[in-house]
Amino acid sequence: MKKHNFSAGPCILPQEVMQKAASAVIELDDIGLSLIEISHRSKEFVDIMEQARSLALELLGLKDKGYQALFLHGGASMEFLMVAYNFLEKKAGYLNTGTWSDKAIKEARLFGEVVEVASSKDKNYNFIPKDYKIPGDLDYLHITSNNTIYGTQFKEIPKTDLPLICDMSSDIFSRQLDFSQFDLIYAGAQKNMGPAGVTLVVVKEDALGKVSRKIPSMMDYKVHIDKDSMFNTPPVFPVYTSMLTLQWLKDLGGIAAIKEVNEKKAQLLYSEIDLNPLFKGFAAKEDRSNMNATFTLADEKLKDTFDAMWKEAGINGLNGHRSVGGYRASMYNALSLESVGVLVDIMSDLERKA
Ligand code: PMP
Repeated sequence: MKKHNFSAGPCILPQEVMQKAASAVIELDDIGLSLIEISHRSKEFVDIMEQARSLALELLGLKDKGYQALFLHGGASMEFLMVAYNFLEKKAGYLNTGTWSDKAIKEARLFGEVVEVASSKDKNYNFIPKDYKIPGDLDYLHITSNNTIYGTQFKEIPKTDLPLICDMSSDIFSRQLDFSQFDLIYAGAQKNMGPAGVTLVVVKEDALGKVSRKIPSMMDYKVHIDKDSMFNTPPVFPVYTSMLTLQWLKDLGGIAAIKEVNEKKAQLLYSEIDLNPLFKGFAAKEDRSNMNATFTLADEKLKDTFDAMWKEAGINGLNGHRSVGGYRASMYNALSLESVGVLVDIMSDLERKA
């Protein structure tokens, strides 16, 4: 039986995408060859890459608006340094809202001065800072739109005239935003897009070329743009699978359609967390993530019973990250409302039993 997969990433992907991807590993579109044995310069793969790049821009509403989509190696962690390589001349500002922002800051400090414009670190990142002043002399401002580990999410994107850069790894394609307010967006594939091994970077072309340092080719966004995201051999399987997921999302009605479902899922779970006295939410209510809900048991003595119940119901991946403890239910695009219903039923069963 297929499990209800609440894993934080790598995580659930649409079943039909996994089936198509699996079948393409055996044979791609009746060509007598596997997806993973053809040249990345073949017409078949060049078309796949172009389609993936085009779908990403289309879904974000950034087609023909001066943006380029790239599919790169190295995970979101590689973007922590690529961003600084390409944008940090003197001074950059970061909002420190979790472990991943913290890591991005650490990498950027190798390239220049970094100001932590605001931080929620002293409260174990359980909220999104709101009252802060953004210095005017920054090369860019960097934010992490959704904090996967802590279950917080920016509901309002900071307003600034500075170039705005966003790590959107765990909520890209999940909600509607004006994506043109960002100069660069990056996201590891392994949440809402595909298997681990590729990172989507969406960059405004005229924001590039502002730093004086020499940039190694593999680190240079311009090089990847000039080579149509094929400077070296791309990770063909993650790119293909991401393309299938983006096509799935488009067929469903795009971000506008999935956003509705994501809101329903989050509402269902958070209302159970709030109404059920056996559970406590971790994140500040106004900053709760629609992708990752973090919560704990009010009474740790119930842990064994609760764990046995959700495992018995075929739920996977509910344990919280070690830095928060408790539970984390990740509700990415491909997770159904029914799966959230199964979890909520178990939580209320526990209340009846306790
Ligand atoms: N940023 C965020 C918000 C993440 O959730 C993660 C991974 N879970 C990363 C960055 C790091 O991604 P990667 O493992 O692809 O380097």
